[in-house]
Amino acid sequence: MMKQDRENKIRADLMVTGDYVLTLNYEKKVLEKGALAITGDSIIAVDKASVLKEKIEAREILDASGCLVMPGLINLHTHGAMTCFRGLADDLPHQEWLHEHIFPAEAHHLSEETVYWGTMLAIVEMIKSGTTTFCDGYFYEDGAARAVAGSRIRAVVAQGVIDFPAPGVPDPKINVKAAEAFVFRWQGKSPHLIPSIFCHSPYTCSPETLTRTKEVCREHGILFQIHLAETMNEVEEIQKRYGRRPVEHLRALGLLDAETLCHHAVWVTNEEIELLKQNGVGVSHNPESNMKLASGVAPVPEMLASGIKLGLGTDGCASNNNLDMFQEMDTAAKLHKVHWRDPTLCSAVQVVAMASTGGASALGMGGILGSLESGKKADIITIDLNKPHLTPMYEPCSHLVYAARGADVRDVIIDGRMVMRQRQLLDIDEQEVMGKVREIAAAIR
Ligand SMILES: [Zn+2]
Repeated sequence: MMKQDRENKIRADLMVTGDYVLTLNYEKKVLEKGALAITGDSIIAVDKASVLKEKIEAREILDASGCLVMPGLINLHTHGAMTCFRGLADDLPHQEWLHEHIFPAEAHHLSEETVYWGTMLAIVEMIKSGTTTFCDGYFYEDGAARAVAGSRIRAVVAQGVIDFPAPGVPDPKINVKAAEAFVFRWQGKSPHLIPSIFCHSPYTCSPETLTRTKEVCREHGILFQIHLAETMNEVEEIQKRYGRRPVEHLRALGLLDAETLCHHAVWVTNEEIELLKQNGVGVSHNPESNMKLASGVAPVPEMLASGIKLGLGTDGCASNNNLDMFQEMDTAAKLHKVHWRDPTLCSAVQVVAMASTGGASALGMGGILGSLESGKKADIITIDLNKPHLTPMYEPCSHLVYAARGADVRDVIIDGRMVMRQRQLLDIDEQEVMGKVREIAAAIR
């Protein structure tokens, strides 16, 4: 609610002014010398600074002169605690990487404590590179939930489900129950933490596990997540076992709806894209992980043309190896151009939309996140344009995708509260976090 004061000015808690305000609203409006006003956790007005200053009296002003102001980015797919395994095993075949390195490292070294510190490190890295919302899935996810609840970042936090002994869930017979218990523990506990369940994949989860998990998700009104059609091997394996392709398999099990989020969708046909679109399923595109593991090139131009809910993710740090969404945008824009030998594909504007509004709608949060508009949550970042590699600037989205990097993010606001000012984190001791993860790495080594 806007309150008028004695001088007839509306009061706000915070006003952010910048050289450019990239709203990413429906008209993709860019305001030169723009500003936005925030009260509580929400944006109450966005306009030219001169106009807003006439109408609004803010308790505090964040002067972002020389900066571009934009919505915080949304990392639609990651496994935060895998920061602990950053650079542990590179340049290996996918199955060898997973079964001989990642699964054993997880089995021996994961605990709620290591997941907590690994996720804390992910949160530090993400805030410092402009991500204000991330969608996570892993084991010992109480550790991740504790990290999210204790920091200010917004996150969908999902307990992993897999049909073999997993870290924290040694008996696979109770994997779905354990995930449901996680949801009970965390639902409604923190306004910026949204619990979810993540079935690892259709080749590591039986049809019974998948359908039981989806039932639990429906009961609690939460997001069901799954890695889907990531590799050609997976498609062959699912066809061999069930006589249908992965998306068809999920449809046959009744899993496709607007509260399902599929990660990767690399090996999907046009018919499968149509199925995902018709059922309102969200998809995350993770180009750097797909490239590093040589999984393949997702048909993103077709997905964009279909109007599917498509966002961008980094995937975990073992297959990327960082969580910088600016680097991910750059890769997404270029990969499809070279793959199809068509430089008009995946424009900068489309890619920025994937990392913001696309991710928000895939999470079912399009009404509150993804753009700078009155009524939406005040999740905002500023980009310092006073850098050689960002000079001059003709078109903001082009800069964000092809020239900027995470380190150019200057300030971060989440839910209307400053969490990073002039690159200094206000609530987290980043030296302590890095120190703890180095200790974990020493044990892994
Ligand atoms: Zn993943």
